[in-house]
Amino acid sequence: MVESEKRVSETTPELRISILTGFPGMFTGPLDDGMMRIARESGKVEFRILNLRDFTDDPHRSIDDYPYGGGPGMILKIEPVARALESLPPALGDRREVLLLTPQGESLDQPMVRKLLASRDVVLVIGRYKGVDERVRSFVTREVSIGDYVLSGGEPAAIVIADCLSRLVPGVMGDIESAESDSFERTILDSGYYTRPEEFRGLKVPEVYLSGHHARIREARRQDALQRTLSRRPDLLDRAELSRAEEKLLEERGWSRPGHTTAEDDSEKK
Ligand code: SAH
Repeated sequence: MVESEKRVSETTPELRISILTGFPGMFTGPLDDGMMRIARESGKVEFRILNLRDFTDDPHRSIDDYPYGGGPGMILKIEPVARALESLPPALGDRREVLLLTPQGESLDQPMVRKLLASRDVVLVIGRYKGVDERVRSFVTREVSIGDYVLSGGEPAAIVIADCLSRLVPGVMGDIESAESDSFERTILDSGYYTRPEEFRGLKVPEVYLSGHHARIREARRQDALQRTLSRRPDLLDRAELSRAEEKLLEERGWSRPGHTTAEDDSEKK
């Protein structure tokens, strides 16, 4: 923590991610390699790992307790969470986002990631055991889930969120253009990609990608992206920006924009 505070005074980070956890050791590794390491070492992203046990006042430093009313499992206590939140420095930007990670939360998606990034100061409150004291909810701005499955603790979810936020900070990822063409950024899936060799055990790279013809390649990628969105995630097409020609092509393949009736439907009604 002292280290990261020293760096703050030298360069103001673009983004601060504070993580409240009972298991800080789970972040050594994920934050020490790859893209998150670059984000951290460049000073563009400041990570603060707060050990909830440092905010307890009993000799056992316990952060969990039995639930009132009985039942199996332990519950994360409210005091360490509240105290850890109160120990944070003022928000980096105008507004701080405090997220409770819970399978009952709003599902994380790319538009939410963009919104969180805009706040520049994101706090992740991680539950463990059977969950967290319900009153913790009054200290947070959102409840977020990373999918419809249950983790033993929210640390992996925090790593997921820290990763997808950090990579969007300008200057962290080498080629920002590559983030912009990713799946979900344009609300459709990304196209497939190939690299060397041109042929591997009879599996060939489609000719167009070897053509060097940029306009044709761009068009082939767009077509591939549309086709794979249609077959894997047609729900995404409903809010995608499509040209009239693209809509027509997709309609020929059986797609129709919800709320819009096709020519066939119209003729049936008559
Ligand atoms: N009894 C709780 C689940 C507790 S799981 C319930 O049914 O809602 C223990 C902790 O893991 C949670 O407090 C949460 O922080 C984390 N967690 C589990 N699954 C998660 C998910 N899909 N997304 C985000 N956090 C999750």
